Amino acid sequence: MSGRTTKPLIDPFGRTVRDLRISVTDRCNFRCTYCMPEEGMQWLDRSELLSFEEIERVARVCVERFDFDGIRLTGGEPTVRAQLPVLVEMLAALRVPATGRAVDLAMTTNGATLGLLAGELRRAGLNRINVSCDSLRPERFAQMARRDQLARVLDGIEAALAAGFSPVKVNVVMMRGVNDDEAVDFATFGRERRVQPRFIEFMPLDADGGWTMDQVVPADETVAAIDAVYPLEPVAHGPEPAARYRYRDGGGEIGVIPSVTRPFCGDCDRVRITAEGKFRTCLFALDEHDLRAVLRNGGSDGDLALAIEAAVGTKWAGHHIGQVSFVRPPRSMSQIGG
Ligand code: SAM
Ligand code: SF4
Repeated sequence: MSGRTTKPLIDPFGRTVRDLRISVTDRCNFRCTYCMPEEGMQWLDRSELLSFEEIERVARVCVERFDFDGIRLTGGEPTVRAQLPVLVEMLAALRVPATGRAVDLAMTTNGATLGLLAGELRRAGLNRINVSCDSLRPERFAQMARRDQLARVLDGIEAALAAGFSPVKVNVVMMRGVNDDEAVDFATFGRERRVQPRFIEFMPLDADGGWTMDQVVPADETVAAIDAVYPLEPVAHGPEPAARYRYRDGGGEIGVIPSVTRPFCGDCDRVRITAEGKFRTCLFALDEHDLRAVLRNGGSDGDLALAIEAAVGTKWAGHHIGQVSFVRPPRSMSQIGG
């Protein structure tokens, strides 16, 4: 810890920013239809990626100067980055000055390699894990991920449970006419395997540019479908985007992320950094702030802190999905880091 006085990072709308999403790679071993194109993706060159040391510096400045207490690793697929547990260990060593505690270190993954990596990641200090899985039916899974790997993902979920992650959350992007008949199946799966499904509304960040509002399955519809079979009640929650519900019979919990139908921008406490070091103050931001230039041009931690503060000063009130004023960012989800 630096011993320096910390100050909260407050954006122009009075929201305290304290959560950093780090994309560790733009690459992926899947090609989910709602995220990546089938082929033709332009990958970043290895030299363009932030090194682990550079990532750790950005994270340390956020934690030690601005009291950030949450970090999530994402991508692309974070587990395709070589030596990922080494980065986890570096980030797990950070301490939040306000509390003296470690940061809450989480990761979102497609789960395909968790069978090999879950234990190592856990031992390196990863606290929480979300595994994405959009269908429990092998053929449909293969269509959505463009990879026939449901069995490996299910093994990955089991490996995460065996490694001691609790709860394991399962991210499900709901798409109209594609997997919108599986809400109850995922609820049953969650109750049986003791994992928490989190149903995400499809957002306009697909590389193919095919998003339309009528493909979005409203979170309320998903909750109603599950409630009809397994009665639910809401759980009070903090600034996290998921609205949480628990089963009245004590069988566990689900979450929904109504990013399109009920945006949570008013409570947004997060910022992001892309794999090549572009700092973004919103998933849908059109402006980016080049922290890699600060890092590679000899900038000090103070320079980094100033750049982060200036960027957060441009954070907008929220996105306008579904309104005429909405402009899609030029990057797709895998290039931003979901
Ligand atoms: N590859 C990892 C994975 O799939 O979990 C991490 C990166 S992925 C971009 C992070 C999350 O964003 C996943 O849960 C994925 O399902 C979700 N996602 C990707 N594209 C999306 C979109 N267009 N709308 C909503 N969620 C999306
Ligand atoms: Fe890869 Fe995740 Fe995007 Fe699917 S959602 S293509 S697994 S980055």
